[in-house]
Amino acid sequence: MEFDVIVIGAGASGLMCAATAGYRGKSVLVLEHTKKIGRKILMSGGGRCNFTNLHNSVENFISHNPHFCRSALSRYRVSDFVELVERHGVEYHEKTLGQLFCNESSKEILRVLMTECEWAGVQIQTETTIERLVATDNGYQLVTSSGAMNAPSVVIATGGLSIPNGGATPFAYHIAEQFGLKIYPTSAALVPFTLQAELKEHLNPLSGVSHAVTVSCNGMTFKENMLFTHRGLSGPAMLQISSYWRPGDAICVNFFPEEDLLALLKVQREEKPKADIVTVMASHMSKRMAQILCELFGCSGRMADQSNADLAKVAEAFTCWQVKPSGTEGYRTAEVTIGGIDTDEINQKTMEAKLAPGLYFIGECLDVTGHLGGHNFQWAWASGFAAGQAV
Ligand SMILES: Cc1cc2nc3c(=O)[nH]c(=O)nc-3n(C[C@H](O)[C@H](O)[C@H](O)COP(=O)(O)OP(=O)(O)OC[C@H]3O[C@@H](n4cnc5c(N)ncnc54)[C@H](O)[C@@H]3O)c2cc1C
Repeated sequence: MEFDVIVIGAGASGLMCAATAGYRGKSVLVLEHTKKIGRKILMSGGGRCNFTNLHNSVENFISHNPHFCRSALSRYRVSDFVELVERHGVEYHEKTLGQLFCNESSKEILRVLMTECEWAGVQIQTETTIERLVATDNGYQLVTSSGAMNAPSVVIATGGLSIPNGGATPFAYHIAEQFGLKIYPTSAALVPFTLQAELKEHLNPLSGVSHAVTVSCNGMTFKENMLFTHRGLSGPAMLQISSYWRPGDAICVNFFPEEDLLALLKVQREEKPKADIVTVMASHMSKRMAQILCELFGCSGRMADQSNADLAKVAEAFTCWQVKPSGTEGYRTAEVTIGGIDTDEINQKTMEAKLAPGLYFIGECLDVTGHLGGHNFQWAWASGFAAGQAV
């Protein structure tokens, strides 16, 4: 079987690449090893797919080479994907912070991509295992569970390692290694934190409680909601900072991102001298949360009895809770993989491997990781488009 282009992986970037190449008149085959295509698209955004972000820019990506993604992002913009979904009649809304979600279902985004692939004449073949990929005189040969296939251009779009029971494999990294490309160590990102048993038990009654915070680690700060869970800490704030956290690091959580807490407490000491500190804190958060955090931070007693130094300690505890996660929930629940194929090995305009002409890598397998909020899909669309234009 001969094709102009074989794309491995029928996910976000692979489908975008396949349609783009198909519209250019190329014969394109997409190979997927699971039964279902676009599984992560379907799971995304709580079933409504946060398909892009109006404020997308290179600053929303983590990479050893922060400028690598600029070229592809500038040639396939947020407005290009928005125009595509509008053309297909998908209704959407901005949730917060520029995040665009489908009004109805993630299925609509997959439908858009499948329709585009169909119109572009792309063939998609599921339940096909790739056993081997070898370079030939005029491209590559794939040895698969349905026979040998040849193409001058092969695009690896098999994503990262998150959600292993949804079809994720290290295929891209193995192929990269086979062709001598450097790979940065990978780890789970956009992932909830786990806590030491004692702290987890103490916080357990807060499971399900959400609170607006700022969270900081390794020079990065996010202002979003955090969520206490029965395993540890989650919510957008924690997912975002997990991409900057390394094992052993403490994160700093500010439960009062908008206020000068010390000044506020001093005023309340004047106004409510007989009130207990827990009651005062409970006017800024749920009573349960105030009780449990005051207990954790060792804050107690009447306001009148708090010296300035005592109040400063309370303010410090609530505005920079130094918590050391014991770890993360790992790839099982992570949204993305951080690290991956070194982008210095890849042509930033075409996504072609510099050491292996005709072999392309796109999407999450590269060392380009977006912040939460639609940036990872924008990278998948942009890198898929870049390769689709070049193959
Ligand atoms: C629960 C969840 C929610 C998310 N929500 C959002 C969101 O709302 N917004 C956002 O921007 N990002 C979100 N993401 C991240 C986003 O889904 C990914 O960044 C994006 O899908 C990456 O695109 P990709 O094409 O690189 O890989 P994928 O979309 O993961 O596609 C890879 C494809 O390759 C296939 N494959 C893997 N190995 C092989 C192999 N050996 N042979 C053949 N096929 C193979 C896989 O089965 C899959 O179909 C979410 C991720 C998860 C897990």
